[in-house]
Amino acid sequence: MLELAGIRVDAISIGGLRTCIQLPGMNLAFDMGCCPPSSVSRRTVLFTHAHTDHMASVVLHCATRDLTGMKPPHYVIPPENAEAFGELFAVWRRLDRSSLPCSIHPVGPRGEFPLSKGLIARPVRAYHRVAAQGYVISQRKKKLKAQWQGKSHTEIRDARLSGVEITDSVESIEVAFTGDSRIEILDKNPEMYKAKLLMMEVTFIDEKVPVERARSQGHIHLDEVIARADRFENEAILFTHLSARYDARRAEEVIQARLPEHLASRVTLLHPPT
Ligand SMILES: [Zn+2]
Ligand SMILES: [Zn+2]
Repeated sequence: MLELAGIRVDAISIGGLRTCIQLPGMNLAFDMGCCPPSSVSRRTVLFTHAHTDHMASVVLHCATRDLTGMKPPHYVIPPENAEAFGELFAVWRRLDRSSLPCSIHPVGPRGEFPLSKGLIARPVRAYHRVAAQGYVISQRKKKLKAQWQGKSHTEIRDARLSGVEITDSVESIEVAFTGDSRIEILDKNPEMYKAKLLMMEVTFIDEKVPVERARSQGHIHLDEVIARADRFENEAILFTHLSARYDARRAEEVIQARLPEHLASRVTLLHPPT
């Protein structure tokens, strides 16, 4: 379990093989390309796209929750996948002769999905080989209006009791996740550069796979991150989805050596489980 910018992250992500990134404190997971036992208790799953390494274990997630008496899960999916996703469950219900209860929520860019504790998930368009989306998770909080700051507790309480609106609703961006995408997802959604924790795929890291090939496959190359090094305002950045062709320890050395220090110090490379 990692803790980045004060947020707990329990993640597995290997390019082309499997991705499931859990945020236990928010009771959610991104993608279900594998179904580790801890992920079964995450009631909401935000799916980025339908490649099997991101979605293929969803039926197991649903069935295991049902078997262990947990409430039906919420699956947020790109709207383009809604019909086939529903058919997938219909087929598995026939095969498994079970009800596989779940709520399916097609939500795309410009839509939003409310989470617990005042958190909101908003999909953003991703640029991949199939319909794909990343997510920005914001926290909505109430903040005392400027004119009430510095006033006594009694004054504020009396104003509130007499029906005066003393707070504004403010939002902070807690987490952004790219899913599988070309780097454009960051440039077109610059709020991702400001999230407390940015989780981004960096599938390729050196000249063995050049930038153009990474782009043609709908992925991010480390060179493209370096070219934008000064734009990242995030407290912490997690690199996910490293291609299985790399040795993670070696990749970590390459990443730390190639990134400028002010960025390298905030970057963690997700290692495959040992
Ligand atoms: Zn992938
Ligand atoms: Zn993919």
